[in-house]
Amino acid sequence: MNEYDSARIADMLRSRNLTQTDDPADADLIILNTCAVREKAAEKLFHQLGRWKSYKNSNPNCIFAVGGCVASEEGRKIRSRAKTVDIVFGPQTYHRLPEMIERVENGDGPQIDVSFPQNEKFGVLPKNSGSSISSFVTIMEGCSHFCSYCIVPYTRGSEVSRPVNEIISEIQTLRDNGAKEINLLGQNVNCFRGINSDGSICSFPELLYRVNEIDGIERLKFTTSNPIEFTQELIDAFADLKKITNALHLPVQSGSDRILKLMNRSYTSDDYRDMVRRLRLVRPEISISSDFIVGFPTETDDDFEDTMRLIRDIRFDNSFSFIYSKRPNTPAAAMEDPIPLETKKQRLSQLQQLIETYTMQYSREMHGTVQEVLVEGRSPVGNFLCGKTLNGRTANFEGSDDMIGKLVNVKITEVLPHSLKGEIERSK
Ligand code: SAH
Ligand code: SF4
Repeated sequence: MNEYDSARIADMLRSRNLTQTDDPADADLIILNTCAVREKAAEKLFHQLGRWKSYKNSNPNCIFAVGGCVASEEGRKIRSRAKTVDIVFGPQTYHRLPEMIERVENGDGPQIDVSFPQNEKFGVLPKNSGSSISSFVTIMEGCSHFCSYCIVPYTRGSEVSRPVNEIISEIQTLRDNGAKEINLLGQNVNCFRGINSDGSICSFPELLYRVNEIDGIERLKFTTSNPIEFTQELIDAFADLKKITNALHLPVQSGSDRILKLMNRSYTSDDYRDMVRRLRLVRPEISISSDFIVGFPTETDDDFEDTMRLIRDIRFDNSFSFIYSKRPNTPAAAMEDPIPLETKKQRLSQLQQLIETYTMQYSREMHGTVQEVLVEGRSPVGNFLCGKTLNGRTANFEGSDDMIGKLVNVKITEVLPHSLKGEIERSK
């Protein structure tokens, strides 16, 4: 989501005739878009600001702006830790950046705006001019779920869906610019409730059917799908809509029902098993990835073993797994946490090793098969094209530039830890 927001900020500033430079020493404006989901991410902001101080020394007019969730969380306090910062803006106020820059340039002093005006920014931002073959589109903002460990509802505000026609028109523009794959973004896309032009409400599965109809878009993905509203209607969409890819990210966080309850996740590990079972009935080959939080306060060896059992039952293809990080003012921050860090580290490494074995097994099963690949460009190393298989793996193979942006069939000839190698079978 931050990547999407950063691209929209860059778009907006370009439309105001600012040009981008890769050299911060050359910049008159430096923007840092931040993540607050874990403490380490938040700390990076202040390290980076420290490193950039010299740019301010050599160009005192250089404006420093800090946006995103750390900005939202810390607001005014950012200035007390880093006096070099001129602007603090939040995830819902980045469209106001040009006016804030102007005020700093006019000598009005530091500008801070981390408010949550609902659905204002998309009405103000210029059209998304992204030209990536695989493009993100935000369909909803914020989150109203308040999982006990999570800072997002406080930093991004409450859940608000964008109107359907706005989303469709953004996707059409991206398609006209060359997009072939769309990744619909939201903290919990299953809870999407967008307004249709006739005033009725569109659910997430209904939105998928609408996007599926857009000619020229070949692949459809979404993230993040929270198990809370992973309904049968959504599973039916997987059966009906061939454009939805064969990869689903469905964050479970833990396999222990006691921990899930403490996390305020409102599903049990068996609910999760049941969802995946029903999904696999319609998409047997689907790759399931997940997020895990290891070492949540009071997590016992038995709780952790429940998580490992769930992993063995589901055979996850991939994960984003981290040690629990205490976030200020969240309910979990007040919970007793007697588990030593060393134990948490061991659990995390055990969990990651288990999932890696499944990742490699799934990859090895692809050896010798022919996979549909969406060609995204030239690989950064070697003289190869690269693209993604339907289950989200990177495949590298020899081919010509005219294949970029197309679906091609690739026979997998080599399986590497983080990618596949192959040979073109025939153009689709
Ligand atoms: N809305 C999504 C997740 C968005 S946050 C969902 O609910 O599924 C992305 C991931 O960050 C979460 O799934 C969780 O695994 C991780 N995360 C959030 N808060 C965290 C914390 N305090 N410590 C460690 N990981 C955290
Ligand atoms: Fe955070 Fe996701 Fe829970 Fe919302 S649903 S509070 S974003 S983990």
